[in-house]
Amino acid sequence: MARFYITTPIYYVKDAPHVGHAYTTVNADALARWHRLVGDEVLFLTGTDEHGLKVARAAEEQGLTPLEWTNGMAPRFQDAWAALDISNDDFIRTTEERHRKAVQAMLGKIHDNGFIYAAPYEGFYCVGCERYYAEDELLDGGLCPDHGKPVELMSEENYFFRLSAFQDRLIDWYEQQPEAVLPASKRNEALSFIKGGLHDISITRTSISWGIEVPWDPKHVFYVWYDALINYLTAIGYGSDDPAEQQRFADWWPAVHHLIGKEIIRFHCVWWPAMCMAAGLEPPAHIQVHGWLLLGGAKMSNSSVDRITPSDLIDEYGVDPIRYHLLRDTPLGTDGEFSAEGIVARYNSDLANNLGNLLSRVATVVGSKCDGIGPAPETTSRLAGVATEVLAEASAAWNAGQPQQALEATWRLVRETNAELETVEPWKADPGPQVDAVLGSALEVLRIVAILIVPAMPGTAREIWRRIGLEGLPEDQRLPDSARWGGYPAGRPVEKAPPLFPRRKVQA
Ligand SMILES: [Zn+2]
Repeated sequence: MARFYITTPIYYVKDAPHVGHAYTTVNADALARWHRLVGDEVLFLTGTDEHGLKVARAAEEQGLTPLEWTNGMAPRFQDAWAALDISNDDFIRTTEERHRKAVQAMLGKIHDNGFIYAAPYEGFYCVGCERYYAEDELLDGGLCPDHGKPVELMSEENYFFRLSAFQDRLIDWYEQQPEAVLPASKRNEALSFIKGGLHDISITRTSISWGIEVPWDPKHVFYVWYDALINYLTAIGYGSDDPAEQQRFADWWPAVHHLIGKEIIRFHCVWWPAMCMAAGLEPPAHIQVHGWLLLGGAKMSNSSVDRITPSDLIDEYGVDPIRYHLLRDTPLGTDGEFSAEGIVARYNSDLANNLGNLLSRVATVVGSKCDGIGPAPETTSRLAGVATEVLAEASAAWNAGQPQQALEATWRLVRETNAELETVEPWKADPGPQVDAVLGSALEVLRIVAILIVPAMPGTAREIWRRIGLEGLPEDQRLPDSARWGGYPAGRPVEKAPPLFPRRKVQA
């Protein structure tokens, strides 16, 4: 059995969960659900990043300790993911003891291996970014290039990670593993950064205490970023004394699939593989970089991504339509537009007019022509061939980490089935073998589509499954066998019920 270990970045608790977080997390969830459907053993990890100066200051403003403050913030992410039907197997918080042990073990190992050294450091520090900038990276007037705000000149004794020692090894790794970082445009961006020359990087601080202490020099804490990256190892047992946990680590690393946004390429595609090499570990097998959702449309363009919360969207549109929109409208890897008009247009075209309409008309005609009992599919139906092609296309796209293409392929089967019904017009025909054949085939399509949409819309998949009279759950089916044509058993009651997706208008 194959293993599939997928991660999101852990989200910084300084911000409340917003649509940008939801975009990454829903995509990771869909990929995790896909791999479960094909029978892989899946581990899906997300969590929260809870150290660093911004958190300490935010807590102080509220009169709380940093831990009290993060204890209030982490559940907001857990609740948001529960509401979005996210199926993560683990939720890591960097303030957990298991993480402290893993960070100290990994960075202790890098220290033992001679890749960490002490040196004085003076530099321009942006509190917003939690990082130092070289003078030539700053904007005119000494402003942070990311925030456009003044940086602070800070001076301290630091420990440095000897990143410069890994330049050649990283270039070799990129050349030997051309698909480790995808898409290719992002791989090339990271590789040209490496080829441009790597400087050693400061990885500890003495000026703050809200972090994980350096085991060989406890007046230092690790810089929030180096602590955070290690979460991917913590969750699979790295640094544990327990032999079962050590075995778990050996089982799961390095076959990981990190899904990240393009703003954190350097951390994940340069520093992180080098840290793994320095600790004597293989670098991560896959890093998939996605673009940004840009807000557009009349309703949202005056807002910003971090003001739109998942619960606002769920209240307005429902869980599965939002999941579907996030997966369907933007190819993973490019920037996409997020707008109320876009959500409603996609909802009406794909969900109301196609999938929902197919389910409603089949249930209605089975009710009027077949006494509400589903007939068997026709073995020679043209739709059987379409279903086989769609399964192959959708599987290839899901396996390549492209939900948008997978759903596009799946909807071809829905559309062609609606077209077939419009040609045959079983609602006008007398009951009999021809009507049974076309309705049985349409029910078979609905059964196959219910399985294929489990990664995107698990709740909708269950509802279709139930309404067409099937037992068990669609997510418990295993592909490809369960999608072979002919699996719909005749003789089950088909339920007529209100539309799954009533048509919507854009609200003013
Ligand atoms: Zn900044």
